[in-house]
Amino acid sequence: MQVESRKVVTLKYTLTDDEGNVIDQSSDGSFAYLHGANNIIPGLENALTGKQAGDELQVSVSPEEGYGERDASKTQAVPREMFPQDTEIEPGMQFHAQGPNGETVVVTVTAVDAETVTVDGNHPLAGVPLNFAVEIVDVRDASPEELEHGHVHGPGGHEHG
Ligand code: ZN
Repeated sequence: MQVESRKVVTLKYTLTDDEGNVIDQSSDGSFAYLHGANNIIPGLENALTGKQAGDELQVSVSPEEGYGERDASKTQAVPREMFPQDTEIEPGMQFHAQGPNGETVVVTVTAVDAETVTVDGNHPLAGVPLNFAVEIVDVRDASPEELEHGHVHGPGGHEHG
């Protein structure tokens, strides 16, 4: 069975940057997603189309096919009093903030001084070329419920209460 839209794909992957540092990898050897539903970044999804279980591939994904280029305008200085006073704010901490269109965005603290906290709203992998080593473990038809929800249920996928 080939990877195409409306299939559930289970794979193992290791993600490294251009220096060979491991950024992420599938835990327990089981990551499942619904193909054709924007569940994974476009560059990886496109490379998997037409492959089948047992195939192994190396995929290099540029930022524009991954998490986008870094956008300097997403970095801003915020008054320190906007943050909880009883919490020590340190670089690397992440907070939920509201984006320009009311959406929730995750911002990462990049610098702190007495008056201001500098936060970066870019995805941590924005601007980073990504190298995936992928092994396709299984390809199956999605259930009607999975297609309706737009994501995978069961092992390696979404768990509903
Ligand atoms: Zn669901």
